[in-house]
Amino acid sequence: DVRFEHIVKRFGTLSVLEDLNLTVADGEFLVLLGPSGCGKTTLLNLLAGLLDVTGGRITIGDRDVTELDPSQRGLAMVFQSYALYPTKTVEGNLRFGLAAQKLDRAEIDRRVAWAAQLLQLERMMNRKPSQLSGGQRQRVAIGRALVKHAGVLLFDEPLSNLDAKLRTEMRLEIKKLHQSLHQTIVYVTHDQIEAMTMATRIAVMDQGVIQQIGTPDEIYERPANLFVARFIGSPA
Ligand code: ATP
Repeated sequence: DVRFEHIVKRFGTLSVLEDLNLTVADGEFLVLLGPSGCGKTTLLNLLAGLLDVTGGRITIGDRDVTELDPSQRGLAMVFQSYALYPTKTVEGNLRFGLAAQKLDRAEIDRRVAWAAQLLQLERMMNRKPSQLSGGQRQRVAIGRALVKHAGVLLFDEPLSNLDAKLRTEMRLEIKKLHQSLHQTIVYVTHDQIEAMTMATRIAVMDQGVIQQIGTPDEIYERPANLFVARFIGSPA
């Protein structure tokens, strides 16, 4: 599992997280849901190692990763902005993340073929990102994370740049992917529908505090407070 223990994060005098505790079980699809500025991206970036904690400890399985570099944490991340290499082909983008992992060529081939099939990218392996639709680019970004066979997959608002129709499609695709791979996912969004349709559990955050954590049904049926009820849109 992934554990955040007594996490404190401050930017100068601004305190974003104070004594935050959260455990994500193996194989779980946990959505961090909350309004802009509540601290969810900060929490994800602390887990990824892109930010340092001010206090507290982060463990993945039995490893304390608090002080480790991002590349040592066994994670893969999908960003809002995809961050594909514009000059590389789809295949080149999928391969790129594996070059540093010292895998043999056959293993790289196998993983890239697997991800391409899973994400229906097989017929566009030689295209550049500029020759792809938004949804296809998003699938390449997800593929690039999947080929790493990381223990934990992180998503930061991966659908927010897509139009409504594509967003609905990708929601289902990511959910299906989780159902077939059983990978641990931590997914940040401010979109209630995304959270309700994909999560096995949702942590609702406001002002740096987890207001409630539970299954989508629990949170919808029994919101812990007025903030959660309003944010989720539960019947009053
Ligand atoms: P959004 O969805 O808008 O990204 P969020 O819930 O992910 O919101 P964070 O990005 O985690 O929120 O930001 C939480 C708070 O920390 C905000 O008040 C933000 O202004 C502040 N913050 C984030 N990063 C920094 C930074 N590098 N320096 C100073 N303040 C920061």
